[in-house]
Amino acid sequence: MAKIKMRLNKDEDAICTCCKNGRDLSLDMYDVKIGNVYFTICDTCNETLLAKSLRASCLTNGRLKSKEDIAIIRRRGRSKYEIWNMKVSFDKLPSKYWSDKVKIEYIQRRVIVFCIMYYRLNTSCISDRDFDELSKQLVELQSNKKDVAKQTKYYYALYDYDGSTGFHVYNRLNNSDKEYLLLIAKNVLSIKGLI
Ligand SMILES: [Zn+2]
Repeated sequence: MAKIKMRLNKDEDAICTCCKNGRDLSLDMYDVKIGNVYFTICDTCNETLLAKSLRASCLTNGRLKSKEDIAIIRRRGRSKYEIWNMKVSFDKLPSKYWSDKVKIEYIQRRVIVFCIMYYRLNTSCISDRDFDELSKQLVELQSNKKDVAKQTKYYYALYDYDGSTGFHVYNRLNNSDKEYLLLIAKNVLSIKGLI
């Protein structure tokens, strides 16, 4: 049987291998080593992995790890990270090696999450100036890489986004994207203590 080792990842720029989220959208990141393979995984993906593969035998102090346990662990970790810095730098590893598509989708997701906070939850955790800067980054990327942009996950909601307003963005999303991105928005606000 392959040996599995796991430790907390302390790298500020860590990116989850599964969902490509960075530390700003994660409570914890883990380095996992299985046999000779290393990867970094966020708490959310790790939970999914655990839930899928170890549901029956994942024990904490001799008892099954319950949803309530996981909620406690999540709450405990929440204050640890100062989150959501604005303009995204793709100069650092490993995002340096991301494809343009992944980069655009990463920024799209942020922009949508902020639009949801602002227009749907009537609150925000960033300044207008920071949001403008992020919007500008998206507008530039989408217009410089038009062919790539058209293939991206959220293009259908952001194809005419010019940074002036994100009022309509949420309503354009399909139901599963609505649900997913609203959850992220709420999660970020709750980590910040804003809801
Ligand atoms: Zn992940």
